[in-house]
Amino acid sequence: MTKSYDLIIAGAGVGGSALATVMARAGKSVLLLEQTVVFEDKVRGEWIAPWGVAETKRLTLYDVLIKAGGHHLLRHVTYDESRLPAESEARALPLGIFAADVPGPLCIGHPHHCQTLFDEAGRTPGVTALRGIRMIKIVPGESPSVRYEQNGAEHGAKARLIVGADGRISAVRESAGIKLHQDKPHHWFAGLLVEGAHGWSEDLQAVGTEGDLGFLAFPQGNGRVRLYGGYALEQRKRFSGVDGARNFLDAFRMVSAPDNKHLADATPAGPLLSFFNNDSWTDEPFAPGVVLIGDAAGWNDPIIGLGLSITYRDVRIVSDILKASDDWSTSAFAPYAEERRERMRRLRFVAALTATLDMEFDAAARARRKSFQERSAADLSLGLHAAAVMAGPDVPPPEAFTEAYRARVLGI
Ligand SMILES: Cc1cc2nc3c(=O)[nH]c(=O)nc-3n(C[C@H](O)[C@H](O)[C@H](O)COP(=O)(O)OP(=O)(O)OC[C@H]3O[C@@H](n4cnc5c(N)ncnc54)[C@H](O)[C@@H]3O)c2cc1C
Repeated sequence: MTKSYDLIIAGAGVGGSALATVMARAGKSVLLLEQTVVFEDKVRGEWIAPWGVAETKRLTLYDVLIKAGGHHLLRHVTYDESRLPAESEARALPLGIFAADVPGPLCIGHPHHCQTLFDEAGRTPGVTALRGIRMIKIVPGESPSVRYEQNGAEHGAKARLIVGADGRISAVRESAGIKLHQDKPHHWFAGLLVEGAHGWSEDLQAVGTEGDLGFLAFPQGNGRVRLYGGYALEQRKRFSGVDGARNFLDAFRMVSAPDNKHLADATPAGPLLSFFNNDSWTDEPFAPGVVLIGDAAGWNDPIIGLGLSITYRDVRIVSDILKASDDWSTSAFAPYAEERRERMRRLRFVAALTATLDMEFDAAARARRKSFQERSAADLSLGLHAAAVMAGPDVPPPEAFTEAYRARVLGI
């Protein structure tokens, strides 16, 4: 038997579950299909930028995340090998200045985040939330439909629209024939969750570069900290093998960031996984009968940690379109495509600039970082790319995303 819904959403990660809840609250019927039976630590986003937190508020999902243990960060320090730790710490940045009524970025473990939103969707009347499904067929077009298997039985469903919220390797995107552009990887990026880091301030996020590693640290509360380390593409096997996690943590012991010892001495609480960091995007995240959100529509280089904020903004814009009128034809999604195209262009620009500044390690890169630290302390207009990360890519003026601005930042 083929059941009928307003929406079928493939993928119940952050994007899929959030959209299911928001649309069901608006009175639509939603079939939410998730392939996994348990959300596991795949080393994914756990830091939501202030502008992303503002999006969760607009979606009325913020309280759900806080109730689930969402943890706000209040201060940021950038360490660098070119200066003393005390100099870096004297320039600590308060994080409550970037979005109205948002004390700072919000951290929440990714599997727990997904489960929390999946549960919220499941208890919202109008959502049929299923997991452990295997997608067999996705048919876009005028009469969108899917066939999927659950517990050995095959089922069919049709809807007015299929939403691809199924992540980087999106079957919905593939079935709709939507192609992604991708740029070249810039560096490797390894991530590890640690616990027992009680010496590290719970409200402090830090980044820094020393030697051949750029690090990032985001506390999650209760002594847990998500760590990332960026390193050169030619060091592919740097943290592989049985000693990988130990070597990764030891690389955090830095003269310029002595408190990193609390991170290096902590205990691994999940897998160590490495990714090459790049950007991908599409100019049209829709096709007849299909719209894509989140990573399925193309992702930003995780160096600036914005995939969740991007996804929440996608959910807000797409749900506003779906709620505004009964016209769910492709032309209805043109404003979404237009906004996302410029948003991702700007964020691609910022990610590439950040990677050049923080994740290159030769003598020229060291000199560039030192010069940038000195010049940006005296000239706040050199911080527009950082403002785009924290306050949102729509906040800085268009000049912040030009070659002229890039040249000023890099001192070239
Ligand atoms: C190393 C790394 C670090 C990151 N750090 C950050 C960060 O700090 N902050 C941040 O904002 N972002 C970060 N990101 C990005 C962020 O994790 C993603 O942008 C975000 O998770 C995208 O959410 P999504 O819902 O679109 O996709 P996903 O989280 O990938 O969820 C997709 C869901 O769809 C399911 N699925 C897939 N295929 C199917 C199918 N055929 N049928 C049914 N279900 C399916 C999957 O099981 C999954 O549950 C990071 C990414 C990486 C790689």
